[in-house]
Amino acid sequence: MAKKTSAAPDIERMRHSCAHVLAQAVLEMFPEAKLGFGPAIENGFYYDFDLPRTLIPEDLPILEKKMKHIVKQSQTFRVEAKPIDKSIAFLKKIKQDYKVEAVNELKKEGFDSITFYENINQKGEVTFVDMCEGPHVEKTGQIGAFKLTHTAGAYWRGDEKRPMLQRIYGVGFPTQQELDDYLKQMEEAKKRDHRRLGVDLGLFIFDDEVGPGLPLWLPKGAYVRHKIMEFAFNTYLSNGYDPVCTPHIASAALWSHSGHLDFYSESMYGPIKIDEDEYRLKPMNCPLHVKMYNSSTKSYRELPVRWTEMGTVYRYERSGTLHGLTRVRGFTQDDAHIICRPDQLKEELAKALKLTLYILNTFGFENFEMNVSVRDPENKAKFIGDDDRWDHAENTLKEVLEESGFKNYVYDIGGAVFYGPKIDVKVADSIGRKWQLSTMQVDFNLPTKFGMTYVGEDGKDHTPFMIHRALLGSLERFMGVLIEHYGGAFPAWLAPVPVIIIPVAQAHEKYANQVLEDFKKAGIRAEISPSNDTLGKRIRESEMKKIPYMAVIGEKEVKDKSLTIRDYKTKNQETMKTAKFLDRLQKEIADRNG
Ligand SMILES: [Zn+2]
Ligand SMILES: [Zn+2]
Repeated sequence: MAKKTSAAPDIERMRHSCAHVLAQAVLEMFPEAKLGFGPAIENGFYYDFDLPRTLIPEDLPILEKKMKHIVKQSQTFRVEAKPIDKSIAFLKKIKQDYKVEAVNELKKEGFDSITFYENINQKGEVTFVDMCEGPHVEKTGQIGAFKLTHTAGAYWRGDEKRPMLQRIYGVGFPTQQELDDYLKQMEEAKKRDHRRLGVDLGLFIFDDEVGPGLPLWLPKGAYVRHKIMEFAFNTYLSNGYDPVCTPHIASAALWSHSGHLDFYSESMYGPIKIDEDEYRLKPMNCPLHVKMYNSSTKSYRELPVRWTEMGTVYRYERSGTLHGLTRVRGFTQDDAHIICRPDQLKEELAKALKLTLYILNTFGFENFEMNVSVRDPENKAKFIGDDDRWDHAENTLKEVLEESGFKNYVYDIGGAVFYGPKIDVKVADSIGRKWQLSTMQVDFNLPTKFGMTYVGEDGKDHTPFMIHRALLGSLERFMGVLIEHYGGAFPAWLAPVPVIIIPVAQAHEKYANQVLEDFKKAGIRAEISPSNDTLGKRIRESEMKKIPYMAVIGEKEVKDKSLTIRDYKTKNQETMKTAKFLDRLQKEIADRNG
């Protein structure tokens, strides 16, 4: 297993150091610039600035050139601690107002000194100074390869009431090769952007009057979404889960009892008044499932209970964080809760993991990164539940992964939710980007809060273990990921139209209609492309729609009762008997190949 903290500290050091170099370059260009903060982020870094004018795209290459010059000079990073009052005086002198504010706050928190990092050039001159915790590389020459990518507005301290700063983003990698590979991947990602493909392929829309973060599924998109949901749900039912169904709202009293109003209210929408009572849109399905569990006495023989629901939940997201389908305000989870005896925990988790892999494999995801999040043993107060149960659950999660062949999982100490440890599954998509999809979480909170019990073999009441699991996560987000993973070219079993029949001329339409009827009878959603346009144009249109198969019908095909099939993916062309293609396609759809 790999500890999260040791993942790649060097690369973070390089990226953060690069942010300093960016700030230095910005100050060379705009001496009056005021600095915000500049952390390392995934794949790169950013820095926020208050500048005398708005940046234009042409500024970035100029800044990059200055940065390269600083890197070439291999300036030294020198760290120095200053007493807090001296620090404030110094920052005031160099007119860095935002930093002054930040240090004043640190002073209030009880800090008595601040560290500064200076850049020193070959002549021993200080070229740049920034208050910073570090760490940094020793010299700017160790920064590696980088590129400034774009700018965006960002409120100081993320507060909409504070000034809007200009954020410059960059990416950074140890070598030019890694940077080039990453930029190539981003280029490919742009082509696959699900927001654009969603419009091009007629899958979904957003509408201002409906509201942001609320997708409207058009017929083709709703069909794909339905196929995903149907596959997942049926798989759960055939693997020992039972379906349940709960309402979208529940009384505020329930959310108060569950603790959501205390710990989760920022993600919840405001009260809805019904008669004399307050209700809330549900942000999660769990307490409703707990209520059903508690509605009758359970014997140890009835466990495990595995309840699944395609549950639609609503969570508040700031408008600035909304992003296509991957960050929305209402979404449907392929949710399930497993309630089991302590001696069943391992088997249940192992089964859930196996199911996860089967489901994700079906969508062509083959590379997984397993993450186990446990509590911080030095900060137990942050987590609820007794030690024995935590140890049992944490050890079980590790065993399950190891015994399933995942020896190299990431071990995140302190990353557990306050109510229990969890396994998160990240998958790599077809262009190598990682997405967090599935989660399996053990919960010590709800069973206690709601007094969930089962009658044991000893005739006494015992507290069961509760597991939350969602394998696709949010269907909306999963669709977004899937569109990008497939580049919009869905396999035949998911495609809204798996095959389009293209008669070359009007004379061939009669046979084309017969073929269409045959397809329909076989349960295949085929369409005809009428012959009023040129063949070339219709073929191009079908290509644009990324339809898996084109079935072209000309003179020869009518005579032979055959089709000339063009495969979207392989671009191969093959003529075969209509019945043979129909069989093949039916089998491909039933097997969920592709
Ligand atoms: Zn720094
Ligand atoms: Zn849950």
